Amino acid sequence: MTKRSIRNVDFAGKTVLVRVDFNVPTRDGVISDDSRIRAAIPTLRLLSNGGAKVVICSHFGRPDGQVVEEMRLQPIRKRLSEILKRPVLNAGGPNGTQPAKIISQLGTGDYALLENLRFEPGEEQNDKGFSRYLASLADGFVNDAFGAAHRAHASTTGVAIHIPAYAGLLMEREITMLGRSLEGSTHATVAIIGGAKVADKIQVLRHLSKKVDTILIGGGMVAAFYLAQNNPGGATVIAEADRLAAVEVLNGGGAKVVLPSDVITASEFSKSSTPSLRESNNVPDDELILDIGPRSCKEYAQVISRAERIIWNGPMGVFEWPAFANGSIAVANAVAANSKSISVVGGGSTAEVIGSLDLEDEITHVSTGGGASLEFLEGKTLPGVEALDDAAD
Ligand code: AMP
Repeated sequence: MTKRSIRNVDFAGKTVLVRVDFNVPTRDGVISDDSRIRAAIPTLRLLSNGGAKVVICSHFGRPDGQVVEEMRLQPIRKRLSEILKRPVLNAGGPNGTQPAKIISQLGTGDYALLENLRFEPGEEQNDKGFSRYLASLADGFVNDAFGAAHRAHASTTGVAIHIPAYAGLLMEREITMLGRSLEGSTHATVAIIGGAKVADKIQVLRHLSKKVDTILIGGGMVAAFYLAQNNPGGATVIAEADRLAAVEVLNGGGAKVVLPSDVITASEFSKSSTPSLRESNNVPDDELILDIGPRSCKEYAQVISRAERIIWNGPMGVFEWPAFANGSIAVANAVAANSKSISVVGGGSTAEVIGSLDLEDEITHVSTGGGASLEFLEGKTLPGVEALDDAAD
């Protein structure tokens, strides 16, 4: 279902509440990566240029319904103001009488930022009263926080019941691109699924096995898939549920599942452990699989080069450690090199791999939502998307 977009809507003179995802990483109180703030700028500018009074709201960290001084949005407001090159007022709150007073002082095109939504317990409880309160601050609601769309909170779903609710530009792009990666026939569609555990990825594997031709497996789940083929696969302890999940995906009659024919192993789960190259059927029982091997990199790159649509979620190995990063780097380069394909990358660590190699421009869409993009690929309906008004046509 297409959602109502903010394009071609006359917001002149209207007060608009915009939910964004400013849950930025920080180090010692300093923002270490402001890409989430930058990602919301097109929507904020479009509204401001259109003459709206723009009231921005976000969560930050996990204050659990209490005011936590270190989780105030002041540093984020400062950075936002620098990027917009415009003042951003502190609207206070996120509840109580102050926000309405500040908002009443806004002129057309002005910006204000509410305090951290999660200081208010009603936010995560999707409390009706807090939802109504948020709606009372504005004439319309815009959700641009795709990263929070898998949560049914007051500022993502509750508020949308009371006032017209639109998808922001980032939200619109996420829904369109992730949707496009799953639409149509499975023909020439390849999913690359890695990451730490089968348990985290089983739903997405189940769903994608009906939506794609081929699934390339990497990451910590390789050992579970080996075991599912009666290959012991080294020292990794595999829960029976994970082995059974892997058996189900292998024998499910859906996509062809490809496992690495060689792997990089180590005797300890440590950055400094010495990597060894092993054939898939010859992983010693005291070694852990920490990456796919060089032959597998070539085999995977070949499959990727022929794909028309590519979905990638989860690194091929422990990419944070250089000795075990080569599989993820090879896959990232192969996806980037296939310029004719539609490529969609989801999940925080996978986006990090792409970012560290400066390959963002070679990928059709790198999702900003970790959990949200995973749930989308699992075939789930995201409450924050569902709550938005449907497009007229
Ligand atoms: P995910 O968020 O599920 O995509 O998982 C990402 C994490 O999986 C990264 O921090 C990787 O270090 C980790 N990972 C990838 N491959 C392995 C592996 N073979 N063993 C353990 N952890 C892995």
